[in-house]
Amino acid sequence: MTIRWGLIGASTIAKQYMIDAIRAQADGEVVSVMSSSADRAASYAKENHITKGVDSLDALLSSGVDAVYISTTNELHLEQAVAAARAGKHVMCEKPLALTSADARKILTACKEAGVVLGTNHHLRNAGAHRAMREAIAAGRIGKPVAARVFHSVYLPAHLQGWRITKPEAGGGVVLDITVHDADTLRFVLGDDPTEITAITQSSGMASGGLEDGAMCLWRFKSGVIAQSHEGFTTKFAGTGFEVHGTEGSLFAKDVMTQNPIGTVTLRTEKGDEELNFDREGLYVRSLRAFHAAIRGQGQPAATGEDGVWSLASAEAALQSAKSGKAVAINPGL
Ligand code: NDP
Repeated sequence: MTIRWGLIGASTIAKQYMIDAIRAQADGEVVSVMSSSADRAASYAKENHITKGVDSLDALLSSGVDAVYISTTNELHLEQAVAAARAGKHVMCEKPLALTSADARKILTACKEAGVVLGTNHHLRNAGAHRAMREAIAAGRIGKPVAARVFHSVYLPAHLQGWRITKPEAGGGVVLDITVHDADTLRFVLGDDPTEITAITQSSGMASGGLEDGAMCLWRFKSGVIAQSHEGFTTKFAGTGFEVHGTEGSLFAKDVMTQNPIGTVTLRTEKGDEELNFDREGLYVRSLRAFHAAIRGQGQPAATGEDGVWSLASAEAALQSAKSGKAVAINPGL
């Protein structure tokens, strides 16, 4: 049986990755797209070969879909996800799930009450590189993990220099955009949960309206691991990476904080350096495959609603810390 998808939001990410990822599934079909503008809905539908373009949530939810993919701006996710759940649709929602973790928990509750699957589109835990690191750590190959470093400061391309850097009310800013991903990837790779964060942020010239376009965070995890992460919109040549250092070895991943299945992972121990092999499946394709399986009762989405609450609670704590200048406890309230 085909799983019929409706897209809530005529977005860049849907056009660049998610429509193809749905169509890459043997049982996936995109049947409709919703935009707030009827003209944009029609042109987006035509350009992406989608049968229906509609300009209201009701029309989208009654267009014969089984699941929705929400990729509107962040302030709209809550209302749209709750409405979709109440209409009996499975929900794959973009990160951050909402503007606050309390609102994200409302989405979780609505999906549970409706008995529909909720996934958070944290693509990075679908990367072969991050799965190879997680497996190496779980297998004890670096001994006891001690510390991690995440390098995730990029340059926001011109076509995305809109609401992310100008609109606080839409959930702009680098923390809600990228720190959420780092929270999720750290949790996934380490198999551990953060307890506390200290953050400083900057507005280095690109963002306006009081929004931050750079952040540095210090994290403490339940196991005692400490981590640092750097998120940014304004560094053209920084490159990305992820390192985990343990008592018996270190993992160095390069070019892995990205949307594509690229990069390398090196394990360094007393024996020397070893390149880890990993699969190069598309991150979003794998994310959708797990979501389809979850709809059929087989397993869970790659990142669940609870994972989305954790990442947002972490980002929320980072923003509070940047404001207060103090360490802030991370409490997802689950
Ligand atoms: P876009 O800015 O491309 O789209 C967001 C909304 O802006 C759309 O829903 C659309 O509104 C409106 N919009 C887009 N293009 C235009 C245009 N040319 N003219 C007028 N309005 C336009 O956002 P992104 O795709 O970058 O991000 C969407 C969501 O996805 C966010 O929640 C973001 O955090 C998340 N995201 C996640 C990624 C991941 O890898 N997991 C990567 C990138 C984004 P309407 O629908 O009303 O037409």
